[in-house]
Amino acid sequence: MTEERKRILEESLALRNYFKVICGAGNEDPDAVRRISTIYTLAGANVLDVSARPEIVRAAMEGIDLAYHITNKEKPKIHYRPFITVSVGMPGDHHVRKANINSFDCISCLRCHHECPMVAIDIDMVFNDKISPYVNPKKCIGCGRCEAVCPVQNCIKFDHNKVELRKVLPACLDAGAEIIELHAAVSDCNITLQEWETILEINPDGYNSLCIDRLNMSNGKLIDKVNRILKLSDNKNVIIQADGYPMSGSSKDFNTTLQAVATADVLNKANINVPIVLSGGTNAVTVELAKLTNIKYSGIAMGSYARSIINEYIQDDEIFTNIIKLKKAISAGKEIIAERNIRPLIFAVDFDGTLAENKFPGIGEQTKEQKELLEILIELRKAGHVLILWTARGEPALTHAIMWCREHGLDFDAIQENTFVKKLSGPSPKIVADYYIDDRALEFSTTYHRKKTLSRLNKILRDSKKEA
Ligand code: SF4
Ligand code: SF4
Repeated sequence: MTEERKRILEESLALRNYFKVICGAGNEDPDAVRRISTIYTLAGANVLDVSARPEIVRAAMEGIDLAYHITNKEKPKIHYRPFITVSVGMPGDHHVRKANINSFDCISCLRCHHECPMVAIDIDMVFNDKISPYVNPKKCIGCGRCEAVCPVQNCIKFDHNKVELRKVLPACLDAGAEIIELHAAVSDCNITLQEWETILEINPDGYNSLCIDRLNMSNGKLIDKVNRILKLSDNKNVIIQADGYPMSGSSKDFNTTLQAVATADVLNKANINVPIVLSGGTNAVTVELAKLTNIKYSGIAMGSYARSIINEYIQDDEIFTNIIKLKKAISAGKEIIAERNIRPLIFAVDFDGTLAENKFPGIGEQTKEQKELLEILIELRKAGHVLILWTARGEPALTHAIMWCREHGLDFDAIQENTFVKKLSGPSPKIVADYYIDDRALEFSTTYHRKKTLSRLNKILRDSKKEA
């Protein structure tokens, strides 16, 4: 990954507008991946997650290229080329398995065939004079829905979709992938660490993502695993994907998405300072629940739900020749991406004289307006905006101010530093913000404010000359 691409990724994570569409870790159908990639690139997704197969990465790249080609004709703007993530996992992880039907036990009820969201179960095979459904492994994403509806115990089992990391991943990176994701929904920490070391060797300079959930481990084990992964990575270039119930997000209810938010909450409470992406059961109300529960996260990864709302278009051979169908597909995708968040605004907030009266190095009383400002800032942060404490205080007065704010319910996303660095002209010590809230500020944005400020400065100048 180039430095420029890394900067774009970091900015997207810092601004919480990272939106990843999961084509399916086990989805090896290049046509479907190509179509999902085109539609969601045009809809504004900035990351696409695909199976760790070079030919599938190439299919996603072709899908993105096609989106650019369509853009040139139709002019919807693509902000920047989406990142491609490839997913690999360990035996036991539900993301990297394939269903397998035992034809001897099957009673041909065909419930699995009707339930499969990927149309991966075909029924044209006759075995022992009965119709026997069978799984197309290229389409199966291992979601487990067929197993859940099957009335015959152990009739549907799962095989691990093993990829040889050292052979397959470099080929995926060569094909255009930039991020490697390890699905580690298993309780064994040592195997996870070994696989992660291999990934770091293969992709030492790029970002890598660890997808982790609480189904097979306690909160304590989860925190321990994440901390050990961060240590191995020198605390850099890591994304943690907080997983809920994988591949369950086809409905809009809060319960489906609850566990993803809960996993992020566990990491938040452990003060793990790393970009957290919500996934697994994510749907149209994930952002709402995240805001209601006030968790800190950097983006959303969406699979089942994102695919389900464009499913009819993924299956449609006319999708790229019929502009009306294409526009419908793009607007369905845009709708869920828009729900993730509006671009958050960054507020740089002073302390003395702004949040409380200036009694430096102590802390003054609050006026009515300062109390109101504090309440509004708390609400702005809950709504997803970014707050940076930007004060002249040094230690220990700075810590006193932070503790005072916390006691009053106000937390910051960063203290005296940028949440991300915009390298437009080289590093700058100035905080990058949309708004600076400071009792010492002179506003210079509109003609009205400029005139007011100039008149104030002229008065200061006149007074200074008189004094001199
Ligand atoms: S229902 Fe899920 S696990 Fe079963 S065949 Fe379809 S995609 Fe595979
Ligand atoms: S649900 Fe089970 S028993 Fe019914 S057709 Fe599928 S595999 Fe066979």
